[in-house]
Formats: sequence, C-alpha cells, structure tokens
Amino acid sequence: MFIIHVASLGPDGMALFPFILVRHRHPGPTLLNHERIHLRQQLELGVVPFYLWYVIEYLIRRMQYRDHYAAYRHICFEREAFANDQNLTYLNTRPHWQFRRYLTRATKR
Ligand SMILES: [Zn+2]
Repeated sequence: MFIIHVASLGPDGMALFPFILVRHRHPGPTLLNHERIHLRQQLELGVVPFYLWYVIEYLIRRMQYRDHYAAYRHICFEREAFANDQNLTYLNTRPHWQFRRYLTRATKR
C-alpha cells in the first residue's frame, strides 16, 4: 500500500489500488483502515469492476433514498468499510468477498 498526499482531494481519503490518496498529511488509523478495506475489495473485484459496481450501486441507492449522503453510506463497499474501520485487525480475519454480505445489511453508524 502506498499513501499519497493530495491536498486538493475532495474526500478525506480515497482508495485507488494500490494507492491510498489522503487529503491531510497525517491521516488517522481509522481512515487508513477504511481505505485499506476498500483496497482489499478492489483486489478481489479488480479496480475497474469495483468502480463500475460502486457507481451503479450509488445510482440505485440514490433513487432509493433520494439523498446523496444516504446513497453513499448504503453502498455495500462503504457499509463494510464503515462497519469495520475502527477494528484495526479486521482485515486479518476478514473472509473473502465479505462486502457481498453488506448488500442487504443495515448501516450501523
Ligand atoms: Zn469508503
């Protein structure tokens, strides 16, 4: 994993395998873990299929919730990442393709 500082980045962090782009020079462990979970998802799916799925699911959730933030938070990749980003050892025991389980799971925070 390579961390690249991009001061003009919109979000705090963004995963683009094998890179993690961060807006702040000293990102916290939860943010880095969140982006590492996305890197694992991208490793499983491939970067292009990951982003295609991401955009398509976002558009479906956007119609479902009629709200940008709710749509973003309900994308299965984000559900998995937000549900587990504070568990810094999550990736050590995470089963493969775990994001699929978050397609139907409720968002906790
Ligand atoms: Zn995310």
